[in-house]
Amino acid sequence: MTTITQRLQLIRDQICEAECCYNRQPNSVLLLAVSKTKPAEAIAAAYQAGQRHFGENYLQEALKKQQELGAYAITWHFIGPIQSNKTKALATHFDWVHSVDSLKIAQRLSDQRPPHLPPLAICLQVNISDEPSKSGISLDELPQLCAQITKLPNLKLRGVMAIPAPQPDFEQQRSPYKKLYQAGAKLELETYSFGMSGDLTAAIAEGSTIVRIGTALFGDRN
Ligand SMILES: *Cc1c(COP(=O)(O)O)cnc(C)c1O
Repeated sequence: MTTITQRLQLIRDQICEAECCYNRQPNSVLLLAVSKTKPAEAIAAAYQAGQRHFGENYLQEALKKQQELGAYAITWHFIGPIQSNKTKALATHFDWVHSVDSLKIAQRLSDQRPPHLPPLAICLQVNISDEPSKSGISLDELPQLCAQITKLPNLKLRGVMAIPAPQPDFEQQRSPYKKLYQAGAKLELETYSFGMSGDLTAAIAEGSTIVRIGTALFGDRN
């Protein structure tokens, strides 16, 4: 049986190899372990193996696990769809939110960030494959929204996030990431949250700085 520790090592090796292969600085890509639907024990196992950044998609599920894991020095990232009535809890209980896709949500997160905490790190989610069913802004909207969000006092705009349509082919995996990286670089953004279990090498080749890995680390979700 493959353990979480072994899988974590395999993923770290894959990241290192991609950094090396595509002229990226060593350790320039952060591994975000996506633990949605997985129990607190799975997070604890990855933590014991040195993993510190975890991503969750569903607020209630995340809050429950955060309580169970209160003693662990985890950096929590929210990567799921955001409803307005959830912004206060997100602003209170997370270090990062990757899935911001409107000024309204950003404004609420800034207003509701507790004053004793550092600014909330955020990424703007871009619907890079222009899929009508997916959330995210279009690339055209990115410059204006960045300019508006930079002015909000309790947020720190870090960069962009995307979930492109799955592609089996390596070159096809690269092309939306290339476009997004170029758009982000023009705006001098530092964080590129893209790459999942199926396409992390293509994402790293195109400049990813955070890969969000679920299945390859924790196994299939039911
Ligand atoms: C579930 C999820 C992931 C992880 O996907 P895997 O294919 O399981 O690695 C990454 N990002 C987001 C936004 C997700 O919802």
